[in-house]
Amino acid sequence: MDSPAAIRIRDLAKVYAAAGNSPPKHALKGVSFDVPQGQIFGLLGPNGAGKSTLINILAGLVMKTSGSAEIWGFDLDRDLRNAKRSIGIVPQEVVFDPFFTPLEVLENTAGLYGVPKAARRSLELLGQVHLADKAGAYARTLSGGMKRRLLIAKALVHTPPVIVLDEPTAGVDVELRRQLWELVSELNHGGVTVVLTTHYLEEAEQLCDRIAIINHGELIANKPTRELVGMAREKVVVVTLDRETGILPSHPAFLKCAKVGEREIEVTYDKDHTNAGEILTQLQGQGFGIVDVSTREADLEDVFVTLTTSATKDAA
Ligand code: ADP
Ligand code: MG
Repeated sequence: MDSPAAIRIRDLAKVYAAAGNSPPKHALKGVSFDVPQGQIFGLLGPNGAGKSTLINILAGLVMKTSGSAEIWGFDLDRDLRNAKRSIGIVPQEVVFDPFFTPLEVLENTAGLYGVPKAARRSLELLGQVHLADKAGAYARTLSGGMKRRLLIAKALVHTPPVIVLDEPTAGVDVELRRQLWELVSELNHGGVTVVLTTHYLEEAEQLCDRIAIINHGELIANKPTRELVGMAREKVVVVTLDRETGILPSHPAFLKCAKVGEREIEVTYDKDHTNAGEILTQLQGQGFGIVDVSTREADLEDVFVTLTTSATKDAA
């Protein structure tokens, strides 16, 4: 039998009420997925997809409209207290009282969670996020990267089995991004299940065991990273033909062929298995006259398109 999910989400929906001139906003339209225990799970999607809404529901900051969510087996509706104890949330925004030291920040948070003094491990946590030497420094003197690491330590004070990071590296430089990736990996090796949201495909690719893609409030993929990234190995050649055609060419090497203009077709292929030259040769061999050609790499956008148009949506 599979081990139980760290997070189990079913038909989760959120409608933000209309405000002023804005109509109601369907931010989540019935999303279901499981986060397996022990993994680094990436929730990937463009800005506005609904990632933070989902995270904030888990954090108890946003009221869901319908559906259900369990954290470590505890249902948000029936057992909010235990659900909250099982998860640590690292928000996207960095906010600290500038006059507390990192040690005080962690001690205060432990107090809020009711962690008894004897069970606190603030110094150990500071060591874990490589801030041991900053225990007594004012938060305002910390660099941006140090503040982010402190936020992670803060999310761990009650020793939750699951930690969620909402866009940990948005607007962060390359060096800090690497540091954060390392830290996330270390935590996961230590046994913590990690969920992170990101709009960077590369980040999800580097870190995550599994990736779910959310777009316009809908889950459009949920696959092991290996499988998903394979889809980004696709390349597209756009060909302008010498005349309009009603018949589209086909060949086993063409993953997809679509008419995109009066005389323009797009052929998608796997760049590990063929190349644009061979595609053109095939087209010419089938009697298509070519007057112009361009190619582009598949990107996240194409993966989205492939997934949204695929018949086997969300093969779990
Ligand atoms: P993401 O984190 O993926 O960028 P969000 O969950 O923040 O997406 O937002 C999803 C959608 O819900 C967006 O269209 C956003 O404008 C809208 N939204 C988010 N928060 C609110 C709110 N408090 N009131 C109304 N609409 C909101
Ligand atoms: Mg967000």
